[in-house]
Amino acid sequence: MAGKSTPMMDQYHALKREAGDCLLFYRMGDFFELFFDDARTAAGVLDIALTTRGEHGGEPVPMCGVPVHSAESYLARLIRAGCRVAIAEQVETPEEAKERARREGSPVSKALVKRDIVRFVTAGTLTEEALLEPRRANVLAAVCDLRGTAGIAAVDISTGRMALEECAPERLGAAIARLGPSEIVIPEDWPAEWGERPAEAIERARGDFASDAGQQRLQTIHGVATLDGFGAFTRPMLAAAGGLIAYLDHAGRGKLPLLLPPEVRAGEATLAMDEATRASLEIVRSQQGGREGSLLAAVDRCATGAGARQLAEDLSAPLTDGRAIEARLALVGWLHADPLLRAELREVLRALPDIGRALGRIVAGRGSPRDLGQVRDGLAEARRIREHLQARPDRPALLDTLLPQLGGHGALVDLLQRALVPAPPTERQNGGFIAEGYDAGLDELRQTSGNARRAIAAMESRYREETGIAALKIRHNGVLGYFIEVPSKHADALMAPDSGFTHRQTMAGAVRFNSLGLHEEAARIAEAGGHALAAEEAHFEELTGAVAERREAIAQTAAALARLDVAAGNAERAAEGDWCRPEIVEDRCLEIAGGRHPVVEAALAKADQRFVANDCRLDDDDRLWLIGGPNMGGKSTFLRQNALIVLLAQAGCFVPAASARIGLVDRLFSRVGASDNLARGRSTFMVEMVETAAILAQATERSFVILDEVGRGTSTYDGLALAWAVVEAVHETLRCRCLFATHYHELARLAETCEALSLHHVRAREWKGDLVLLHELAQGPADRSYGLAVARLAGVPDGVVARARSVLERLEKGRAETGGLAAGLGDLPLFAAASAVEEERRDTLREQLQTLDIDALSPREALDTLYRLKHEA
Ligand code: ADP
Repeated sequence: MAGKSTPMMDQYHALKREAGDCLLFYRMGDFFELFFDDARTAAGVLDIALTTRGEHGGEPVPMCGVPVHSAESYLARLIRAGCRVAIAEQVETPEEAKERARREGSPVSKALVKRDIVRFVTAGTLTEEALLEPRRANVLAAVCDLRGTAGIAAVDISTGRMALEECAPERLGAAIARLGPSEIVIPEDWPAEWGERPAEAIERARGDFASDAGQQRLQTIHGVATLDGFGAFTRPMLAAAGGLIAYLDHAGRGKLPLLLPPEVRAGEATLAMDEATRASLEIVRSQQGGREGSLLAAVDRCATGAGARQLAEDLSAPLTDGRAIEARLALVGWLHADPLLRAELREVLRALPDIGRALGRIVAGRGSPRDLGQVRDGLAEARRIREHLQARPDRPALLDTLLPQLGGHGALVDLLQRALVPAPPTERQNGGFIAEGYDAGLDELRQTSGNARRAIAAMESRYREETGIAALKIRHNGVLGYFIEVPSKHADALMAPDSGFTHRQTMAGAVRFNSLGLHEEAARIAEAGGHALAAEEAHFEELTGAVAERREAIAQTAAALARLDVAAGNAERAAEGDWCRPEIVEDRCLEIAGGRHPVVEAALAKADQRFVANDCRLDDDDRLWLIGGPNMGGKSTFLRQNALIVLLAQAGCFVPAASARIGLVDRLFSRVGASDNLARGRSTFMVEMVETAAILAQATERSFVILDEVGRGTSTYDGLALAWAVVEAVHETLRCRCLFATHYHELARLAETCEALSLHHVRAREWKGDLVLLHELAQGPADRSYGLAVARLAGVPDGVVARARSVLERLEKGRAETGGLAAGLGDLPLFAAASAVEEERRDTLREQLQTLDIDALSPREALDTLYRLKHEA
């Protein structure tokens, strides 16, 4: 790159314009190079050297590069850091470039190799094994607005599974949280009234999101005249599908990845949970953001990556249909009851290749001979599993659906078994993957080159004998091909014109020669080898074609294997942790005996501590539990364990309890009161209230709500008042099942007016001045607060604790005299009657103010009166 713009610079800039805000990987021989700001960004993320190459506009051009052969690992790091990358490859050889220059009459010496962007690599469009996590689905979503409704299309392009759904704008956040996409495509004119655009959003032209085009594309891809056979798709769904496919087209430069027929996802078929609920329950990710510490990690005993991905999906979208849940539970139960069968099955599954992802790579045109081998082995194993399970007369009903999906690939497996060597390589350029006996022509070519190779070996000993040079060798390298090499001191004999050898190269210490015989045999090898490679390449195309043709059936087999693995893994988990099969019923009850929190229990077990199991028993007559007790006493844990048990049960899993009877839940809500840190720029109290408002607006009688210290994020009076009003509303209006943890003792008085509310507390004891937390739930109100004891437990210095104790005594004395924080609340009528009371109180206040003789009051009395009035107001 010289001072003024060079043809190469021009080419670079043109490609960069096309790449937009993606980093441009510009192919230069064995390297991908990045320039200017791209180089700065990549060098920073990858921690590689930033250098310069030439000048542009009088300035040195910043540059960094990565070797092509290890580009994948660099790509992975860039993608993980949130970058997107455009790959510009050389699309002609230097010879072709020269030829073209000659034709065009431009200087051949300056011929520039043509380059094109062949692909955009983004977080949502990966298929490479090295770039994907085996146990995590990689979802790309497209969302668009159509006449006030949100259409959502989601696909995991590593396996091609695609689902379409629609929802009201206010439920969009929850839907996105359920899908957990790594990239979201949205129209550039995202409606302002829909609030913030989702994080990870990529904007695309509105024209991409046309429902008729979306429908047309889907029909073409799947070769059908109508989509009716796949499901009833609405316009918003099809518009989102259009946006998704257009983006895939763009990213793959016209080459689409594997897309299976789309499924409709109906909103009410799954347990609704919003973003805040998912985050607080730490379902597939902990609050720290990783898998570790999540429910998923505590439950996952899957033997395969595909099983782990399916489990994550199950836990993210538990079911609401009792029959479907029972079907899953029956399969888990069957495998739970038969440890031997389970062990055998898991053993086989563990060795199974990831055929769903191998299929994805093959259909995307990035498959390798090894991927074909994986499909072959996976399908063969699936057939054996089917035979094994089919022989069992006691099998549960779900197996009758799954088993047929495991077979039916006989002809394809047979073809792949005949065609491929047992362990095909990941590279296909060098051939060697087609088995002997599959193609007579290929075998012959191989024999020819084999014979020639043997002839060359024989030639070596003959030349040694003839020349008397024992150190003579016939060798091969990429530049010279085959050659004869002798140490320099023996070279003279071969240099003689009539020796039959021709000189090729002189090295330090050795000289290399050719001979007519060697040349002939080498040409034979090269020719046969070239033909053999071409033959293998043709077979590769034909085999990938055969696999691609059966893609839907293969994907179904992969899905059935994953489902089996999830069930076997859950049965294993249940056996390991003494979990039980939940009973799913229609009544609005929640009866959990000996319930445990799987994540907390596992963490305690590591420290050799025991988890205290607790019961929960909610029904129509006792549907709201108010839970008090000291901080750190186990309130949050209890709340969450019950929510998690519901979630697990509806996902079709056994649950960590001695027994569980669960009335189907339609929506699950979990809220944790704000602490002091700020989230998303809004005050945490604001967040807390927004989230609480959502519950009040959305929960139904069938919902289950856990509220942990709601109202904590504000002053004592405000907090208590809000907590009070929320409990009343949940009890009176929503009438759903609810666990409410609070440290406001005053709320206990609600038990007097709310007939379906009961009081509970986590037990604690003070022993020799120390607090002993029993983590045991008991009936009745919390008897006292143990705040000071907790402070001491936490290491607050003794002096400070002692001072706090004397302050507390004063405060408590005051409370005894005035009736405390909640004085006057005892006869506060419930919410419905509240406004009449409000009116009445205002009248009394007015009356008192009017009769007040201000001049007759001392300043002290005036102040006291003001306090009293304010208190009454
Ligand atoms: P709270 O919400 O009352 O402040 P948490 O539920 O956060 O209390 O529990 C605090 C800690 O107590 C947990 O991190 C855990 O170590 C322990 N804990 C909670 N519940 C139990 C239990 N049932 N058995 C044993 N330890 C528990």
